[in-house]
Amino acid sequence: MDRKSFIKSLVSLLAMGPLTAAAMNLRELNKMIEPLGKTSKMPVLFLGHGSPMNAIEENEFVRGFRDIAKEIPKPNAILCVSAHWETKGTFVTAMLNPPTIHDFGGFPKELFAIQYPAPGSPDLAKQTKSLITKTEVGLDEKWGLDHGAWSVIKHLYPNADIPVIQMSIDYTKTPQYHYELAQQIKSLREKGVLIIGSGNIVHNLRMVAWKQLNETFGYEWALEANDKMKKFILDGNHSALINFRSQGRAFDLAIPTPEHYLPLLYSLALQDRNEQVKLFNDKAVAGALTMTSLKIG
Ligand code: ZN
Repeated sequence: MDRKSFIKSLVSLLAMGPLTAAAMNLRELNKMIEPLGKTSKMPVLFLGHGSPMNAIEENEFVRGFRDIAKEIPKPNAILCVSAHWETKGTFVTAMLNPPTIHDFGGFPKELFAIQYPAPGSPDLAKQTKSLITKTEVGLDEKWGLDHGAWSVIKHLYPNADIPVIQMSIDYTKTPQYHYELAQQIKSLREKGVLIIGSGNIVHNLRMVAWKQLNETFGYEWALEANDKMKKFILDGNHSALINFRSQGRAFDLAIPTPEHYLPLLYSLALQDRNEQVKLFNDKAVAGALTMTSLKIG
């Protein structure tokens, strides 16, 4: 925004009268001045999304998502790396109005009826693309918000008033590559962008106790892997987490395929030295899933 339009905005703000002007907080004024201007550093989240039913159920995990949102300043925009968008190459959604994608089967009708009409942000998509030099990031017009994104973000921001973009996971790349790629978007944290990795650190659908989908218990290997992962997370031992294929049987069972685990590496890559990690929703479900989530910073 140039000086002239800045003064114009300021004049129109003052013209609203003292009450309206007071109601418009400083953050909104900042937004008028520069949509993605420098802000204090936003935390980073990793959210265990679990069953799509969490989108419509009331349970302790949903409450955990709501509570964590209260601890975070309202973001200017959200960038979500979801386990459910795997591509060859890396893409960011760049449309103005991303559709709500119901990318699952066998669930009740009411789940398919859910819409999460958050706007997109072509600006943030372009900024993300320009920050990443590791690969040529594609601007996508076909995807939208999959349930890895909307089923959890809807609990954090039920009004759908914050723009959301997604970034895909390149299934041809190594864990180390994903970690390094994520590091390149770190500066978005200082532009009011909340970066969310959405997956599950322990996620073995073949071993899930489907009839006990609402029960909080974990098989021995699931709890063992979850505990070891948490220790590595809290110790800041990212290299052990990147090398998850060298961590033995419990890890192999917890991560039969990497797509639900890799969003964790995206979130950890954004952690600065001496930044604290807070764990929440740290429970196993249906034997073979854990909902363990984290807030960094
Ligand atoms: Zn999932």
